Amino acid sequence: MSLEQAISELEAERWQSRYQQQLKLDDILRYQSELTLHQQTRINIIQAQLALLDGDYATSEQLASAVAQRQEFPASQLAAYSLLMNLSNLKGQYEPAFYYMYTGESLLTPESDSRRRYEIYSSSANLLINAQIYDQAESRLSAAQQLASDIGDPKLLCSAQYVQAKLSYLRQQYESASHLLAEQIAQCRSINESLFVGAGLVWYGRTLAYEGQHDLAQQTLYEALTSLQHNGFKAGIVKANLSLAELYLRTSQFDRALAHAKDAIDMGAKLQQWQDLVGAYQIAALTSERLGNLDDALHYERLLQRASEQSLVQSKAIRLAYLKARFSSTAEQQKITLFKTENELASLRKEAALTHRWLIVLGLFTTCCISALLFVMLIRSRKEHRHYRQLSQTDSLTNIFNRRYSLELAEKRYRACVIEQTPFTVVMIDVDHFKSVNDTFGHAIGDQVLQHVANQLSLAIRKRDIVGRTGGEEFAIFLPGSDEEQAKAVVERCRANLATIRDKMSQQIEITASFGVATATGGKLPLEALIRRADEALYGAKSAGRNRLIIYRSGKELDSQPSQYEVML
Ligand code: GH3
Ligand code: MG
Ligand code: MG
Repeated sequence: MSLEQAISELEAERWQSRYQQQLKLDDILRYQSELTLHQQTRINIIQAQLALLDGDYATSEQLASAVAQRQEFPASQLAAYSLLMNLSNLKGQYEPAFYYMYTGESLLTPESDSRRRYEIYSSSANLLINAQIYDQAESRLSAAQQLASDIGDPKLLCSAQYVQAKLSYLRQQYESASHLLAEQIAQCRSINESLFVGAGLVWYGRTLAYEGQHDLAQQTLYEALTSLQHNGFKAGIVKANLSLAELYLRTSQFDRALAHAKDAIDMGAKLQQWQDLVGAYQIAALTSERLGNLDDALHYERLLQRASEQSLVQSKAIRLAYLKARFSSTAEQQKITLFKTENELASLRKEAALTHRWLIVLGLFTTCCISALLFVMLIRSRKEHRHYRQLSQTDSLTNIFNRRYSLELAEKRYRACVIEQTPFTVVMIDVDHFKSVNDTFGHAIGDQVLQHVANQLSLAIRKRDIVGRTGGEEFAIFLPGSDEEQAKAVVERCRANLATIRDKMSQQIEITASFGVATATGGKLPLEALIRRADEALYGAKSAGRNRLIIYRSGKELDSQPSQYEVML
């Protein structure tokens, strides 16, 4: 076999087992002195690829950067750019990665070697996927897929399918990702592309774990790990170990989870794979704690902190790097266009300024519309809020406060009276023989009477007093700041008002009510107890013959007697 044949064969085997390739390369390098400059350059690319697989990023970068300068070998130059892109991507250095992406893409011409074009586009897609710029990734991916099917090389189809499946997984379209991965793994397996088989299996294992198929996921991830170890692809091995650790954590096998997390940490820390390290440290801390190794847990927590910070810095840097690279590459292209079409640009600028002005006007208009709309909605929602609040506070038949809300208000006023050391009086009211009103005149008339009663009671009180319907034909009046004497006056007004109902009805109905009154000053007594006293007095008024007021009194001088009633009438 000639030297040229050996090199071409080796080139065709990229991403195959690193160890086998290294052996073949060593064979070729025995004839180093016979190599042409072009051959030497191609060998450098292969060496850079092998170093990348081995995680020796410094060597890989050094070799590829040198080739990237060689304008006389455009195909190798493109290969160098896609390699540098992959390398920076793996290292999480997005600024150079995007720089290589834009420079690589700008070097593409219709005459470029279509395999190299494929490499540039698939590497760009992969980079954009990692940076989570999925729409841009998609356009590169479809270009790469088109090239792969034009060239008709199953190896390229395998790698394009891998990128597509990964994109689908990361977009959380797990169902379609699962199908795509199964297809991709089968396709790559059929042509022995073990690196993509291994990488595909990692994502596939993850989808299985996500679907709860733990046994199958475990089997798949071990297969992935073996396959990647066979290839010696270290960044992939970290991911496989992390996925296994996650799986074991899901199934509460903490010691196994810890072992795999540690494996991921050992290699991930060397490669500075921060995002994966965050996951691995988390699992290590959690499992160490579960296994009772608190010192270890604390140690991993600390490392986790650092990795999280690094990962955050990195992910913030991604977007910035993308924008920067895009900006600088666009700026460069613009400079060239500027010379050629200065006039056109000037008129474009004018147009742009006009559009800009229009956009501002449009923007202002839209802002005004939205503000007005928001304002209307706010007013409406306030109105609705007020309406519902009122509904929840009032009694629907009589339109005065309902039991819950009148008690809530009373509680507030009572507390104020306690603080001010002013008296507070509760009047409990029950309409007399109301059942017979219903029985004689019917329920509808009974309802009307209740409305009149509520109305008349409301007319008898002052602004700061509270009247509420506490039950069927039962009412309560709360008098903040009023003592017994003042309460008596209020009750008298109530009684006089109730007497007028007769004239307001078509039938002759005499309406009277019984009243129970209790007053407190100083507030050792809870409001509830004060109400109970007023109720007790009301009960007394009923038993004493109705249509009267009784005041509850408890006095120190009457210790032997817990309570007594004073009959007003
Ligand atoms: P007393 O003097 O002992 O209070 O006698 P009373 O008939 O008023 O008392 P009782 O508790 O026996 O009856 C109350 C009646 O009030 C029974 C019930 O049908 C009626 N009632 C309660 N709520 C309403 C209402 O919303 N509308 C009407 N029309 N009647 C009601
Ligand atoms: Mg009653
Ligand atoms: Mg009654």
